[in-house]
Amino acid sequence: MPGRPVIQDEAPAAPVLEQDGQPVLLEVQNLSIHYIIEDQAPARAVENVSFRLRQGELLGLVGESGCGKTTLMLALLQLLPAAGQITGGKVYFKGQDLTAMNEEALSQVRWNDISIIFQGAMNALNPVRTVGDQIAEAIIKHATLSPAENVDARVVELLDLVGIAADHKEHYPHQYSGGMRQRAMIAMALACNPQVVIADEPTTALDVMIQAQILELLDNLRKKLGLSIIFVTHDLGVVAEMCDAVLVMYGGVTAEYADVDTIYNAPRHPYTQELLKAFPDLSKPDKRLASIPGYPPRLDDLPAGCRFAPRCPLAMERCHTEQPALHILGENHVASCHLVEAGA
Ligand code: SF4
Repeated sequence: MPGRPVIQDEAPAAPVLEQDGQPVLLEVQNLSIHYIIEDQAPARAVENVSFRLRQGELLGLVGESGCGKTTLMLALLQLLPAAGQITGGKVYFKGQDLTAMNEEALSQVRWNDISIIFQGAMNALNPVRTVGDQIAEAIIKHATLSPAENVDARVVELLDLVGIAADHKEHYPHQYSGGMRQRAMIAMALACNPQVVIADEPTTALDVMIQAQILELLDNLRKKLGLSIIFVTHDLGVVAEMCDAVLVMYGGVTAEYADVDTIYNAPRHPYTQELLKAFPDLSKPDKRLASIPGYPPRLDDLPAGCRFAPRCPLAMERCHTEQPALHILGENHVASCHLVEAGA
């Protein structure tokens, strides 16, 4: 079950270190991120997003392209491009405020405590260096090895952990299949024994069979190493199968946040409901899949009211002028919709 999200009107609170007897590793409070480019309207990519990630928890972060998922993940480790700025909110790792850290302190947190598996393994790997070299570089730069360990042995250990035979460490990325490259990226992300791994659409561009293998690998690693994972994806099937909690984003804001059962069985936000209608149900093979007409809003030209209003089948007059607040629907459930407020 997810932690109770912090509601946007609340004053910044002290970080929560434990919930339901489990350590809270990551807590994001009311985080806002804008892209600021001279002579242009700021793009409000993320606004007032909050969530908690407990030890061993797998949080799914879902929404269409351009809804702020990747920006949010990059901001956790302050890896935003130059125009991206955190304009409000806090990111706590085990109670330490990452938004207040200098670059040197942050570089200790990256890889060692929190690491990222980036989208598109072919682009993320250097094509002119062997995969083993690239994993070794991550270890040398960031990890502290005991005297008994050596870098080469650790590379082999990491490759073994992700199911790649040791002799492949001398190969270049183009000699790997797509699935092997993604496994290598996972090995690299685990190089320094992080407690939190952010997997940003790690199965994009892989075929279905390989996707399933990579997802199984991540789930096994979570259990074996006790990892907490944030899984960024479009795929609601994967979320249903793997995740404990789900944060649904739309137009840079939280549409709905709840445990996975609530999201699938009792969603309250119309966007979540529409996303689920577009998701194939294997028990009803004859059912036509729905699609959501239109596109997500431009983040530099957002609607005045609810960001989903131009596409929402339930939109009312006030939806076009008044932004909905985030409403608490239960201990572990929030949604931002005027209908929720009205008790519909
Ligand atoms: Fe739809 Fe209005 Fe709810 Fe937005 S606030 S999701 S437009 S009903």
